[in-house]
Amino acid sequence: MSLAYGRPFGALPGPSVIPDRVLRAMHRPAPDIYGAALADTTAQIKIDLQTMARTTAPALIYIGNGHAGWEAALNNIVNPGDHLLALETGRFTKGWANVAERLGAHVERIDFGARAAFDPGLVEDRLRADRAHKIKAIVCVQVDTASSVLNDIPALRAAIDVAGHSALLAVDCIASLGCEPYEMDAWGVDITVSACQKGLMTPPGLAFVHIGDRAWAARQSCQSVTSYWDWAPRRDPEMFYMNFFGTAPTHLLFGLETALQMILREEGLENVWHRHKVLSDAVAVAVEAWGADGPLECNIPNRAERANSVTAIRTGTVNAETIRQWCDTQAGVSLGIGLDFEEKDAPDHPYVFRIGHMGHLNPPMVMGVLGTVEAALHANDIPFGNGALSKAARIIAEG
Ligand SMILES: *Cc1c(COP(=O)(O)O)cnc(C)c1O
Repeated sequence: MSLAYGRPFGALPGPSVIPDRVLRAMHRPAPDIYGAALADTTAQIKIDLQTMARTTAPALIYIGNGHAGWEAALNNIVNPGDHLLALETGRFTKGWANVAERLGAHVERIDFGARAAFDPGLVEDRLRADRAHKIKAIVCVQVDTASSVLNDIPALRAAIDVAGHSALLAVDCIASLGCEPYEMDAWGVDITVSACQKGLMTPPGLAFVHIGDRAWAARQSCQSVTSYWDWAPRRDPEMFYMNFFGTAPTHLLFGLETALQMILREEGLENVWHRHKVLSDAVAVAVEAWGADGPLECNIPNRAERANSVTAIRTGTVNAETIRQWCDTQAGVSLGIGLDFEEKDAPDHPYVFRIGHMGHLNPPMVMGVLGTVEAALHANDIPFGNGALSKAARIIAEG
């Protein structure tokens, strides 16, 4: 017998829960793609995306997922043979670095493992050693969605400045825009990549690249820019279709317009950040309480390095799929799988699952997921410490 009949719930680290209002905004006839209304919607979205990333750098919109955003960012700055430095803290910088290699870049990777943030001091040392300033750009993520680590971008900027290095700083905020505080201009980031299906609560299909002045200058000496990925027409479109190099993604734009309205003009961005912080802390204390007397633990031991948007949970000797499958079939909750955990002496079963807590989410949704995971532990005779939900409730009460 299953108790899953009810509204299915995705506690995934993307795509995230889509607000009904965003769905409804998309439920309308196809618009005139040469009309003023769609042009107005697009113009407002471009302004709102700047507000989201706290920047005056123009936002370019690509029809595509986060991987498309990666390619859009690098296609305009990487010439074959250019040197890049990739700071790996889980899966996602690795993926971005692979894109860079296919564009012909020579990528040097520093692997900080999957359980901690990058170390800006180490990056500073590497940059100091690069006296000729061969490294053209540094690529990294603010949140790695696989490890659920939060990297300290201002500390990285400071390290680059102390080293006196000219490398561009390119940051993937796909799993953190609208979840974590982010200040593109104040932090001196040159390129920000994001997408619509995580903190921005919109069905997948739009990627965003913010390009700062130094990045724009670098594009002018890039020989390998191709038509579709070119920043130039999207940055300074002479006609509306140039924003998208073809037909606009009409309904995704309507959905996104409403999502940005909800974030920026109804809830307010700082409240959004705070809500994510509190809900993330609630998940963390619950996992810690379970782990006090059982195999579960947060993948990121250092609290200050935990993301607000996703929590990776290690299950040690227990097969993580047992928990995930039970939640899915018995309770209608989808949890995220573990991604790319290939450690020395690792168990030969999956030993990580993830709870996504990004976007359109409030306390009953998070408490529901935590209660369901606890039920899965009961049902499968997995030992756990007491008081997890009570501790989570206290965090929420202190808000
Ligand atoms: C989800 C994600 C991506 C990839 O996005 P896709 O839409 O799946 O291509 C890249 N980086 C980070 C940090 C992500 O969370």
